[in-house]
Order: sequence, then C-alpha cells, then structure tokens
Amino acid sequence: MKKAPVIFTGHGSPMNAIGENQARTGWKTIGEKIGKPKAILAVSAHWATKGLLIRTAPDNPQINDMYGFPKELYEVHYTPASDTVLAHRVQESIGATEDNTWGIDHGVWSVLSNMYPDADVPVVMISVDTTASPEAQYETGKKLAAFRNEGYMIVTSGNVVHHLGMVDWSMNKGYEWADRFDETIRDAIFTGDFQTPVNYSAISDFEKAIPSAEHYYPLLTALGAAEIGEPVAVFNEYRELGSMSMTSYVFGEI
Ligand code: ZN
Repeated sequence: MKKAPVIFTGHGSPMNAIGENQARTGWKTIGEKIGKPKAILAVSAHWATKGLLIRTAPDNPQINDMYGFPKELYEVHYTPASDTVLAHRVQESIGATEDNTWGIDHGVWSVLSNMYPDADVPVVMISVDTTASPEAQYETGKKLAAFRNEGYMIVTSGNVVHHLGMVDWSMNKGYEWADRFDETIRDAIFTGDFQTPVNYSAISDFEKAIPSAEHYYPLLTALGAAEIGEPVAVFNEYRELGSMSMTSYVFGEI
C-alpha cells in the first residue's frame, strides 16, 4: 500500500470553485496527479468549533456557507459519501466528539469538486478546534498521520494569509506584508522547519495575516501529518485580493 499524501490547500473565495481561475486549474491538476485515494480525511476552516468534532454519519450534506454569490455557484452539487467505520476509528485516534449537525462546507467542496469531480471518494469531515493551541493542531495531525499508511489522504483547507476585513476586490496580488508572511512560511516548510509555522506569532505582521486562526490552523494539522524530510511540493502559490494567500502544499510521493 502506497502511503497517501497530505495536502494543505488554500481555498479563498468560493468563486474559485467554478469558471476559469488559477486555483481551479491547480486543484484539477493535483487531483489527476495523485489519483483517487481510498478516502479523504478533510479538515475545514469553515467548521470552526469549540472542541474537536468529527462527522460520523454515512453521508455528507452540502453546506452552502456563503452568501450573495452568483447563482451558478449554488448550482454546484457535491455530496460524497462518508465511511462510518473509518470515521469512528479517526474519532478515537484524535479524541474528537461525534457531531452530525454539519456537512461538507465550501472550504472542502470547492476544492474536492475539482480534484474529484465524480464525488466517488468518501470524505470524513473534521472540524478545527479554535480553542486549542497551535501545538494541539499540530499534534492532531500527528495522530492522523498513521491513516496515510492505509491509503487515506489527508486534506486540510484554509488559507495561510486570510484577512477578510482587508480584502481589496480590485487586487489580483497580495499586499507586501502578505507576500512576505506567505514566503516566510514557505521557506520554513521547505527547509523542514515546522516549528516556525507553529510559532507563527513570532513572525512579523502575523496580526494582519492571521486576525483569527481558523483558516491558518489547518496548515498546522497538515504539517503534523507530514513527515519532516519527505517530498514537499507547492502549488497555487499566489496571493490575491491583497490579504488572501492561496499557497498550497502537498507532502509525500505523488
Ligand atoms: Zn474560507
């Protein structure tokens, strides 16, 4: 059994799910390169909770947690099945609480509907515990890592830089501080220094890049699930809207 990769992906605007854009091309390409894993353990910034939750029901109702977008976006239907046996095993391993009130939100369906458009790969949804420390996010990833050996892929979805209050819809690049922050994280990851991202509050401009941590924490969970020294590749490496980074990483052989 080939070890499945770990992906951290930026998702950005829900509009990245449809039409022509760089993010979408990146997701399609990476999905084709990797092929279909047995199932996906998905951590979403949009399921931000107090305490760590996991969906254990057999289905994944689609949650359209975005408002005021064009109707084409609401015409995307993506409802992959879950794997209840796997979900319960993961629940035990990471010490999460079962919760079946959420489903597959746009942080995950915008990505997976492009990576695996047939919705034929089961998805187990895991929340981001916003009350837990950065170290705890990393530790959760470490616990998830064992599932990779069985062919289960880990996909965590957020944004390294994500400051909605500073979004400038006319910008197709990042503010200088956003570029700098994103590059600091990238350089650390590529040198196997995962502690710099975990200790992000020591990086300059972190308050602007990460005004709240729910979109950043999925990166730390991905790093925990990755092994220092294994192959790492970056994709969708760009900033947009000033204060949004789309930079995404894949760890492992693909
Ligand atoms: Zn988001």
